Amino acid sequence: MQADQDLLQLTYYRGRVALHAILRGLGIGAGDEVATQAFTCVAVPEAILAAGARPVYLDIEADGVNLDPDDIPRKLTPRTRAIIVQHTFGIPANMPAILSLAAQQGLPVIEDCCHTLASKLHGQPVGSFGAAAFYSFEWGKPVVAGLGGSARVNDPQLKETLLARRAAYRIPARSERWKLALQYSLHALLYRPSLYWPLKSAFRSLSRLGIARGNYNALDADRPAEDFSLAMADPQRRRLARKLASGVASHADRSRRLACRLISGLRDVRGIRFPAAPSGAEPVLARFPIQVDDKLRTLALARKQNIELAEWYATPVHPLPVDQGGVIGLDPEVCPRAMQRTGEIVSLPLHERVSERHIDRVIEFFHKAA
Ligand SMILES: *Cc1c(COP(=O)(O)O)cnc(C)c1O
Repeated sequence: MQADQDLLQLTYYRGRVALHAILRGLGIGAGDEVATQAFTCVAVPEAILAAGARPVYLDIEADGVNLDPDDIPRKLTPRTRAIIVQHTFGIPANMPAILSLAAQQGLPVIEDCCHTLASKLHGQPVGSFGAAAFYSFEWGKPVVAGLGGSARVNDPQLKETLLARRAAYRIPARSERWKLALQYSLHALLYRPSLYWPLKSAFRSLSRLGIARGNYNALDADRPAEDFSLAMADPQRRRLARKLASGVASHADRSRRLACRLISGLRDVRGIRFPAAPSGAEPVLARFPIQVDDKLRTLALARKQNIELAEWYATPVHPLPVDQGGVIGLDPEVCPRAMQRTGEIVSLPLHERVSERHIDRVIEFFHKAA
């Protein structure tokens, strides 16, 4: 399939490294601003800061989890050089409105496709709308290769630049490659919805001890993490090639089937809403998001009953606590809806270890919790 080849051409150590490569390829650096939505993960501003630029946060839609096009004119400044558009959970963003506003300002659009390889909008795959897109293949993404990221570049000139710079990236050190291989095997062996909560605690403790590779780096704008100079190692790349060939269509089928079952099973549960999608959207979700009235209570109940329920994004730039927003230039007052949504959204798994029986248990859980 053509899409596989596209994603294997420009591979990097992680998704954020692909984003950083795109930003640098666009000539973005010191003194520049890059607009991105709040209700995201810290990997995105980390890449912007590593490029030397400053993130500017756009708020999300009143009833959704993607960026609100109306906020673009309010936040852009003469220094803004690009807009990053996230297809959160796999729900396509409102691309026609965003692209037209970006074109008026002459700004390139970069799509964050870390949550989906297959969503479409008006029949067109996400990742093909902007100048470039980036993907992640770490734990919890639709296709898992261990750590890993990829850039899909639609602008021919930008693509030439990125291809020419590929040779400058080093492969990770041997100890790091071993750690990743071990972590991948453990994940493949152990991970299933019924072990979500215990494994989550174990993973946190291990990454705190430096034994496992955590999801988040310490942020230091003056000294970007070594990650940004690393390519994807060969074993990961071979695994990615195999999984892209076999896993994308089956993930899409399962994700659609399980999401349908959840929608019909949860539709009339009191206090539950589904985030909005634009008209013409055909989402293929990484996880199934729901808005609940009492997020903390729902999470506590799920933990007690061993139901896999994720809390992200728990803060506007997850997992950075709100009072540390200054580190990544976030004033939560500029994105009140993202703030509000962090108190509402939980999400359910749709990956290959999730059976229809598990989905039925989840539906029963929400009926009882209501
Ligand atoms: C996972 C993720 C990233 C970063 O991916 P890494 O491979 O961890 O660098 C960026 N954006 C979103 C929305 C993600 O979910």
